Formats: sequence, structure tokens, C-alpha cells
Amino acid sequence: MIQLFNVSKTYEGEVKVEALRDINLHIKRGEFVFLVGPSGAGKSTLTRLMIREELPSKGQILVDNRSLLRMKEREVPYFRRKIGFIFQDFRLLMERTVYENVAFAMEAIEAPSSEVRERVPAVLELVGLKDKLSAYPHQLSGGQQQRVCIARAIVNNPLLIIADEPTGNLDPDTSWEIMNLLLAINKRGTTIVTATHDKEMVDRIKRRVIALQNGRIVRDEERGGYQA
Ligand code: ADP
Ligand code: ADP
Repeated sequence: MIQLFNVSKTYEGEVKVEALRDINLHIKRGEFVFLVGPSGAGKSTLTRLMIREELPSKGQILVDNRSLLRMKEREVPYFRRKIGFIFQDFRLLMERTVYENVAFAMEAIEAPSSEVRERVPAVLELVGLKDKLSAYPHQLSGGQQQRVCIARAIVNNPLLIIADEPTGNLDPDTSWEIMNLLLAINKRGTTIVTATHDKEMVDRIKRRVIALQNGRIVRDEERGGYQA
């Protein structure tokens, strides 16, 4: 699903920052992967490379067997349709209802309106929000808002979900609900890569853990914990 070959990323500015150094990585279809490491280790940079928000300074990246370096700019929106994104700060449209927020993702890929009307309520039911279709984001708790984001991320049946600290703003119980939802989505076959600082979560779930430090992979374990 995702392959990185000798990938480095240097941010060129007044001071150069080597955010990633010589990363080699293979994430297979259907895997659930935690990215861990201290702040500044390179987790966000790695997720931004995977969705082609940034290009590497060196090396090759393949996602779904496509080279992100060879991809033309005009192909990028089509590529991104295969990926769902979930962010720590939700990034919902505050002036739109729950239904409209999710429908918007389908309309962006020009899905037929009959499909939108069928699929949006179904996906919102799947994430436990079927009573909130007409609510606005500010009327929802943090956990409910993150469920809307998950609904938006999965509504177009992505092959891959990339999440950057999806539980970073949530209390422990709500974090569990959200992570269980991601595990259930993974069970249906979607590959999930999630950066997190949540030690307890990583230790209990026991999935693949890729640990970064100073831009390098320092540990990659099949059933890992937050720390070595
Ligand atoms: P993490 O997500 O693990 O906290 P990041 O990938 O955000 O790590 O950052 C890795 C390093 O790259 C840090 O030193 C950070 O300050 C730097 N960095 C991240 N994004 C940029 C950017 N757009 N421009 C310059 N430096 C950046
Ligand atoms: P997070 O790791 O929670 O995603 P960051 O603080 O790493 O957030 O980055 C937030 C935004 O700021 C990103 O868009 C990143 O590109 C940018 N950024 C991070 N570090 C730097 C930096 N040193 N210089 C410029 N931009 C940065």
C-alpha cells in the first residue's frame, strides 16, 4: 500500500531542518500502524509525504503502486480521493450541518446525488450519529465531532486512512470510542496509519508501531508498545 525507499525530507529555510533521514518503510494493505515519537521527530512530515502534501528531498514513495514523484499536479486530486484524512483539530465546516459536512466530501468527487442521499445517512449511522444529521458542529461534543470527521473520511470508501493525532483533543473514554471505530474500519479492510502520543492506547491495542526519533526510524515492531 505504501512504500518508501531511502526517503529524506529537508525543509529549506533560513535554517535547514532535516525532518526525515533515509526512511525505508513498507506498509501492506489492511495494516493498522501507529506512528510514535517525541514532538519534532518527523511524524507529521511522514504523513504529509504519504498524502503528497509535501514531496521528499530524496528517495521514492509509492502509494497504491503509484510513484508520488512522477505524479503530475493535475493527478493529485484524483490520487487523494483514495485517501481519507482525520486531523486532531477536526477541520469541519462550522456553517454546515453534520449531514452537509459528510455530503460535501461526496459532492467534491461528483458522486451522483442519489448515491449521496443513500450513503451519507448510512455512514453516519455506522459512526453512531444517526440522530445528529441536522446538528451543527458546535452543538456536538469533541468525540461526536471526531465521529463526523471519521464519517467524512470513510464516505468515499478510501483504501487508506491517514490520521494525525485523532484523539489528541479528546478525553480517555472518548479516545477509546474513536480508536475502536478506527479498528472496526480497519477490520473491513481499510489500511490505517495514525500518528499518536497516546501511550496507553498504543500499549493496549498492540498493533504495528513505527517509532521515529530525529527523523529516523528507531523501532518497527509488529505488535509493539509505545516505548521499547
Ligand atoms: P512531529 O509530527 O513528530 O512533531 P514534524 O514532522 O512536525 O514532527 O517536524 C519534524 C521537524 O521538521 C521539526 O523540527 C519541525 O520543526 C520541522 N518542520 C515541520 N514542518 C516544517 C515546515 N513546514 N517548515 C520547516 N520546518 C518544518
Ligand atoms: P502537528 O505535528 O500537530 O501536525 P506541527 O506543529 O508539526 O503540527 O505543524 C503545524 C503546521 O506548522 C504544519 O503545517 C507544519 O508544516 C508547520 N510547521 C511546523 N514546524 C514548522 C517550522 N519549524 N517552520 C515552519 N512551519 C512549520
